[in-house]
Amino acid sequence: MERPRHVEGSLKMSSNQPINVPLCDLGAQYQEIRTDVEAAVTRVLNSGQVILGPEVAALEREVADYCGAAEGIGCGSGTDALLLALHGLEIGPGDEVILPPFTFFATVGSVLRCGATPVFADIDPITFNIDPKEIAAKVTDKTKAIMPVHLYGQCADMEPIWKIAEKNNLVVIEDAAQAIGAEYQGKKTGTLGGIACFSFYPSKNLGTYGDAGLVTTDNPAWAARMKALRVHGMEPKYYHKYLGWNARIDAIQAAILRVKLPHLERWTIQRQAAAERYDELIEATRLHRFMQRPAVMEGRRHVYNQYVVRVPVSERDTLMQHMRQNGVSCEIYYPLPLHLQECISHLNYRPGDFPISEEACHSVIALPMFPEITALQQQRVVDVCAGYRMKQTRVAA
Ligand SMILES: *Cc1c(COP(=O)(O)O)cnc(C)c1O
Repeated sequence: MERPRHVEGSLKMSSNQPINVPLCDLGAQYQEIRTDVEAAVTRVLNSGQVILGPEVAALEREVADYCGAAEGIGCGSGTDALLLALHGLEIGPGDEVILPPFTFFATVGSVLRCGATPVFADIDPITFNIDPKEIAAKVTDKTKAIMPVHLYGQCADMEPIWKIAEKNNLVVIEDAAQAIGAEYQGKKTGTLGGIACFSFYPSKNLGTYGDAGLVTTDNPAWAARMKALRVHGMEPKYYHKYLGWNARIDAIQAAILRVKLPHLERWTIQRQAAAERYDELIEATRLHRFMQRPAVMEGRRHVYNQYVVRVPVSERDTLMQHMRQNGVSCEIYYPLPLHLQECISHLNYRPGDFPISEEACHSVIALPMFPEITALQQQRVVDVCAGYRMKQTRVAA
């Protein structure tokens, strides 16, 4: 990194225009695989088999094999995957599920949708994942499952979670929506609990052009039940054994995902290289004291669905404003913890109940991250942040 330090705007393209950096750029990837994607879509359209069928079955096999799980069941979205897991385990009214308050809403929404009661356990301040030390005290005789979320692409600390689950006879449901390909002690997500839930939403590491999701499990009875639930609990045809719903994945989306899956490892490595470059650039501009970089814990493979830094609460919003004014996109995942969401006010949680999650909501910033992000774009992101720091230091002086 030979460029001058702390010089914002030093990175102009030859046109002398500062470059804009998007949060995520799906277009670059589409151009790369366009021919294959279009051929896959055409193949499905020509086959006439647009609901379930061979493309869906093949995707299920391929994703399950990728993860190392016995079975995969494709479904309409990551949210459907969570619902299939909970209904598949017959979790419902009167049951409790333990989960973190710092995650996307679908994690808690699915628990409430199936009629169960969400019980929150605060997160670890370094990884932003559920803190196993907080879980034990939340277990009651109504607890049925623990739902760790592998947030931003790094696995939750599973070993102590497995111990609590085993001791209390609970099922672990992985919310692996952001973490396909991530590993814990050499094992991939999809195999780190009883059931795992994946999302193929476009911005996820394996994203399609629409909505889709998938569950994995090694348990044949749960798999059979979830497969039936996906088609209105029907088994055999027109005999409804369970109350399910339509949670099917489109055959077209399955075919597209089959094109993308063989590229996933390379895209993951590109994300990791981009994360490393951010790490270096932040250090080179001496921002690292101000801007806490993501920590990769021992025995874990982080797949960087997001590269999330943490800055002082008093600076976060002004820094974001500065970044956006300078053409650098950034986002807050997530600005309000789940326990304080309006639609669950009836659970009577209060500000201060989960201080680590609440603090995270006020201090995190996701920087632009996608496999195709260039060194130039990353340099621009960090230069703009360094420019903000310089301005702050000047004001203080
Ligand atoms: C994206 C996501 C979901 C939901 O997935 P959809 O496909 O959008 O329904 C659930 N949990 C987490 C943590 C997510 O990031």
